[in-house]
Amino acid sequence: MLNAKVLNALMRTISSAAEMTAVSREVRRSGKRLGFVPTMGALHQGHLSLVRTARSQSDIVVVSIFVNPKQFGPTEDFSRYPRTFEQDSALLQAEKADYIFAPLVEEMYAPGATSWVTVEEISERLDGRSRPGHFRGVTTVVSKLFNIIQPDLAFFGQKDAAQVAIIRKMVSDLNFDVRIVVCPIVREQDGLAMSSRNVYLTPEQRKQAIVLYRSLMRVQTLADQGESDAAKLIAAGKQVIGEQPAARLDYFEIVGNNTLEPVNDIARGALVAVAAYVGSTRLIDNIVLIGTGRARVGG
Ligand code: AMP
Repeated sequence: MLNAKVLNALMRTISSAAEMTAVSREVRRSGKRLGFVPTMGALHQGHLSLVRTARSQSDIVVVSIFVNPKQFGPTEDFSRYPRTFEQDSALLQAEKADYIFAPLVEEMYAPGATSWVTVEEISERLDGRSRPGHFRGVTTVVSKLFNIIQPDLAFFGQKDAAQVAIIRKMVSDLNFDVRIVVCPIVREQDGLAMSSRNVYLTPEQRKQAIVLYRSLMRVQTLADQGESDAAKLIAAGKQVIGEQPAARLDYFEIVGNNTLEPVNDIARGALVAVAAYVGSTRLIDNIVLIGTGRARVGG
């Protein structure tokens, strides 16, 4: 039998927005710092690295698990997106998260709700161009989660670099009282960026998927050697993708870290971002080039 003290130490799962807000209000009232990690579940080490960082910087850690229908296009994978709540819950318990916020879709989107949060222009770049409406869904759900949870800190992965730039802009444009903390990309041993969507890959596709990372490494090598012309670097990256017939390129771009607008050279630093389909699975990855022409993986 667990005694009361142990029970208190256990993580709690909350599905009601009102209850989550009441808990968060109490946390803030007691002067504790609340760290928040938004996720869609199917947790892997990438997510858990965010939770660990949140744990080290916050008194109370809230992790949301919500597969947000509004950020999926009509032909995308909303219904088959992996849902592994029991396992996620055990992983979060082991990381000493305090609360899981796991609302049902109806709890987040009441019938008749018609309000959206749109960060114009920047939301149409990179993934926003290939996935119309995607970032509007992201910024709407993240705004709602910020309103419900009122975090002091919110933790996001550099894996979704465009999302980071858009959320930062939203927080600045709309005066959200939250500090955004960005955590590095966590990779498999061979370099593939961890993603909940990697489970869609067959063993053969899993090997082919490494081409995204390889294309970024080619760019990094050239940048390390002093090449700073973005067009040449993009051509080199695209060539690597082209050498893998199983991969279908969506975009390969070199853009400003915060603006997501294309840059001509990388002298002052840039984000190198790639998206490609392997089979029907869309994968993304990126590296940040730092101004001197050197590159940093996942940073
Ligand atoms: P998702 O569940 O895909 O919405 O991701 C939730 C959060 O985890 C986002 O901030 C992602 O950027 C982050 N994340 C996903 N994969 C990784 C990874 N491989 N490394 C670091 N962060 C990640």
